[in-house]
Amino acid sequence: MVNGDGEPTAPLVIAIDGPAGAGKSTVGRALADRLSVGYLDTGAMYRAMTFAALRRGVVEGALDEVAAMAPTVDITIEGDTVIVDGVDATVAIRGREVTEAVSQISANPVVREVLVDRQRAWVSEHGGGVVEGRDIGSVVFPGAQLKLYITASARVRAERRVREIGGDIDQVEASIIKRDRVDSSRDHSPLTEAEGAVVVDTTGVSIDAVVTHILELLR
Ligand code: C5P
Repeated sequence: MVNGDGEPTAPLVIAIDGPAGAGKSTVGRALADRLSVGYLDTGAMYRAMTFAALRRGVVEGALDEVAAMAPTVDITIEGDTVIVDGVDATVAIRGREVTEAVSQISANPVVREVLVDRQRAWVSEHGGGVVEGRDIGSVVFPGAQLKLYITASARVRAERRVREIGGDIDQVEASIIKRDRVDSSRDHSPLTEAEGAVVVDTTGVSIDAVVTHILELLR
């Protein structure tokens, strides 16, 4: 890409991080749509790795086995469809089994290394985009033009999840809090507010209002 003076410009990268169920995906997709750029849900990649581990019978705690498996897992994401090693895993990666194991698999440093490389390659191929996850502004794209940390109270996040996929509100809230705790306390690339990130609390705010606010920040 070049600017008006014919000089190269860095592709626009918007990094979105935050805890589970804060509205990152909905906001990220809406932003990408409004800006006509691509959208990458990195959580789907970690979920895909977890699906592969469960399918191959690799035990969660087995660090070396998970590390050896990671580079060999073929993941294709097209729109909402996620194909893992040739199998359509779109529904399964959102299911309880994967959701309960994903934080453990994501804590594996080799899994992170493999997926971070693929995320950077995706951005190079697409000439930028909206990238969402837990470590995007802090580790994957620390130079992103805009970094957002999208959050909401645990209760509100659980209520949203229950509206989307059903379940008991107290159990869903407990599971979300547990996943946040593992994601925030791991040694490698823990969930954290990246330096320079704008914190957006979506508690009691509509998605439209959040997107409008972020578009104003971009201007
Ligand atoms: O965003 P989502 O809830 O689908 O992410 C699932 C899990 O994937 C997170 O709980 C976290 O353990 C992991 N993850 C990660 N780094 C990212 C994105 C997701 O560790 N960049």
